[in-house]
Amino acid sequence: MNISTLSKRLLTLLLLLCTATTFAQVNANQDEDIQEMVGEISAQNLRALVEKMVSFETRHTLSTTTDRKRGIGAAREWVKSEFEKYAKASGGRMTVEMDRFIVKADGRRVPQDTEMANVMATLKGTDASDNRVILVGAHLDSRATDVMDAKSKAPGANDDASGVAMVMEMARIMASRQFSGTLVFVAFQGEEQGLYGSRHLAERVKKEGWNLVAMQNNDIVGNSFSGETGLHDNTRVRVFSEGTPANETEEMTKLRRTLGSENDSPSRILARYMKMTGEAYVDQIEVVLGYRADRFLRGGDHTPFNQQGFAAVRMSEMNEDFDHQHQNVRMENGTQYGDLIDFMDFEYLRKNTAVNLATMASLGRAPYAPEAVAVITSNLTNKTDLRWQAPAKGKKPAGYYVLMRETSSPVWEKKFFVKDTKTTLGYSKDNYFFAVQAVDAAGNASLPVIPVPAR
Ligand SMILES: [Zn+2]
Repeated sequence: MNISTLSKRLLTLLLLLCTATTFAQVNANQDEDIQEMVGEISAQNLRALVEKMVSFETRHTLSTTTDRKRGIGAAREWVKSEFEKYAKASGGRMTVEMDRFIVKADGRRVPQDTEMANVMATLKGTDASDNRVILVGAHLDSRATDVMDAKSKAPGANDDASGVAMVMEMARIMASRQFSGTLVFVAFQGEEQGLYGSRHLAERVKKEGWNLVAMQNNDIVGNSFSGETGLHDNTRVRVFSEGTPANETEEMTKLRRTLGSENDSPSRILARYMKMTGEAYVDQIEVVLGYRADRFLRGGDHTPFNQQGFAAVRMSEMNEDFDHQHQNVRMENGTQYGDLIDFMDFEYLRKNTAVNLATMASLGRAPYAPEAVAVITSNLTNKTDLRWQAPAKGKKPAGYYVLMRETSSPVWEKKFFVKDTKTTLGYSKDNYFFAVQAVDAAGNASLPVIPVPAR
């Protein structure tokens, strides 16, 4: 055998080994109407929306609110007027709000008391007995090199007009569709000055007792190339989720230790749902699960929602480009700095929007999650007995999916359809993790619920 044959054989063997250790995911089902919505997302629209946001020159939180063409005030008003256009197709179900609030001087990034505002569009659910809310958000404010510089150009095309354009495109497409749960679309302010808009809304959500089941934050989602590393990746996107809930109580810690469920926090469950759903509906995209709350030592608009105890995740592109983020627009030694539209990839942004839309639409249409999900422990057995109750609210499920994965697998690997509210599986609870979803006739499934031990 010559060297080249040998190396070919070794390569084949290596490939085989790699496949053997890859965990294959079971994907979500596809609802035809959601497929149609996904197909309506337009890279051209996304570009036009980002262009318009860049035209305000700066959207810095401390920039002018009186100029009609420049600054955060004009940008907020424009987002509001766009939401109002989309709302016309909703038959009165979509309402638009400028949620204003005062942030006191903080001695840090807010030098004097400042009025800020989140722009929100709410698409009321079609089922009066369904009070669930699913929220998608991104930040409208931008910054230059100096975070206090409210005057210089700060186009913020990718950070984070990309996210706001996504939120707006989703609102446009979804406004005319029916969802039993309520969908909320938000452009936050004050992110760069200290997550002020998201903190304000997370506190409001908590205080007003919303039944918020998922928060999808999108920040820096429209560039696929890093000049620094030369890496180009338009087929993968990161979704970060906290492992240990920020608000974990002693009781929750105890349960987590007992079950070994450190990889099944509410936010991680949501991230995995997003991967399973996004990859089912969108071609040429892989959702990469980031097993941390955010990028290293960073945070974002999902963070205050985590702190209030909600499932909240952050999507960000695979390769950030730091020459084009938080930088004054300038040429230096032949390099163009600044967060400019030229460095964006709108086909990539379209796919990332599709992952978000498919997730939000599926959650908005799915039945409520099953209740009292339990794994029976009265006998020692190598089988697994699961039982649960039908959700007390919302539409009646067509059935349930029991999901299963190996304890070391990041993704759900098998699913069993069960019509009843109990099942016995020929797989040992010692070797696998399980969860149960409620599913409707079109295949839309709730967030999975992890069973707790019961006798
Ligand atoms: Zn950002």
